[in-house]
Amino acid sequence: MLTMTINGAAVGGATTFDVVNPATGRVAAQAPDCSPEQLDAALAAAAAAGPAWRSDVDERRKAMLRLAEALTAAGDAITADLILETGKPAPVAASEVPICGMWLQVFADMEIPRRVLQDDASALIEVAYRPLGVVAAITPWNFPIGLAMWKIAPALLAGNTIVLKPSPFTPLATLRMGQIMGEVLPPGVVNVVTGGDDLGRALSAHPTPRKITFTGSVAGGKSVAAAAGADLKRVTLELGGNDAVILMADADLAAAVPKILGTAFFNTGQACALPKRIFVPDALYDEAVDAFAAGASAIEVGPPENATTQMGPLSTRPQFERVTALAAEAIAGGARVAAGGGPVDGEGFFFRPTILADVPDTARVVAEEQFGPVLPILRYSAIDDAVERANSTMFGLCGSVWGTDIGAAGAVAERLECGTTFVNTHAALLPTVPFGGSKWSGVGVENGVDGLLAFTEPQVVHTARA
Ligand code: NAD
Repeated sequence: MLTMTINGAAVGGATTFDVVNPATGRVAAQAPDCSPEQLDAALAAAAAAGPAWRSDVDERRKAMLRLAEALTAAGDAITADLILETGKPAPVAASEVPICGMWLQVFADMEIPRRVLQDDASALIEVAYRPLGVVAAITPWNFPIGLAMWKIAPALLAGNTIVLKPSPFTPLATLRMGQIMGEVLPPGVVNVVTGGDDLGRALSAHPTPRKITFTGSVAGGKSVAAAAGADLKRVTLELGGNDAVILMADADLAAAVPKILGTAFFNTGQACALPKRIFVPDALYDEAVDAFAAGASAIEVGPPENATTQMGPLSTRPQFERVTALAAEAIAGGARVAAGGGPVDGEGFFFRPTILADVPDTARVVAEEQFGPVLPILRYSAIDDAVERANSTMFGLCGSVWGTDIGAAGAVAERLECGTTFVNTHAALLPTVPFGGSKWSGVGVENGVDGLLAFTEPQVVHTARA
């Protein structure tokens, strides 16, 4: 069994929990369940490792590059874990290790800013950015190691040490990555512990971490924010999304629909920043529904190990049940099924790529985050109406506007209330570009210099000269 990593050592659990393979629906592995004492030990190890780790930025950069190499060398084993626990088709699963490597390399190269505010005869006044100390990192199941690395790479460069807790649905690849980090980094710099939501609650409430970086649901984020508030810990929250896509009247459907569909159904629709509601003008509506339906019907759904599989199962049973319920509810409420419509018969959490037309905005599949391969196509008559409806939820992660007049599309894009607004693309995310949500989609940003600074606190250094 894979082990936790605490203070550089491999640590098993007194008890374990089941890990289910979503392609079969059956238990396929066990993971250690971290005890309260083990959590204390992980946090104590992270605290003890802090002073040495923060003392030499060049050593940190070198260690991060060594880690990138070691993860690349273990790529096949990590990818196999990801396939087993998430059901991702092999090429999708195989992309996560290179993403981790890229994030480590980009952050290993990044300068930690030091700003000079005044430099004259009377004083030198600078702002330096200091590490926060121990960071608690809590991650979801949809990109288990990629999203963990969005936290680990900048936190390490900034000089923090880390206790990482992955989702109980997908602990395996993160445990293996933890073992590699335990070998490559000094003991205690990154610790990985596994367990259920209660472990996340205990980590958030523990007095040792000075920052919690959380990616997950809105409900989880609110709970973490409340725990952090009680101790004035810093928080970054990357939460759910219900991204609106608006097609302008001059949109090129032949070019736009395959791109939107490919993005919406990437990872079986299970990513925060994917198209989740498509607004189409009256004049293009029927043609667009047909194009989305034809594209969805052509997607091959199947087991992750099949070379021709384009879409794997949903990754967890609760998510499968939720997507099934949202689609059934919309259909019972009068939505027209243009493609798919429900689960695939047989074992595992497979769902047919589904396009729903004529769905009211009040249907839960529109109003809530569906996080699966069910895409509602919504009709609009006036662009102001589309913008108002796009902005009418408490989500605000990303949005996009598609049209041939880039200026007009861009003007509409900037009216969307969200952390990132795209024109003629969606979910193009980069390590150098800040990413975060407005409203309930998040607090703060990850990635880029802004994301790096979120793992620091400013310290003014004021030297009098006169
Ligand atoms: P989740 O909130 O159920 O769980 C996420 C993590 O938090 C898990 O490790 C879980 O054990 C832990 N957790 C749960 N409740 C907790 C609590 N009260 N205190 C502390 N930790 C707690 O989310 P999920 O179902 O794993 O992930 C799916 C959600 O994540 C979706 O809403 C998705 O949009 C969101 N997400 C957001 C981003 C982003 O960058 N904005 C990226 C990926 C996923």
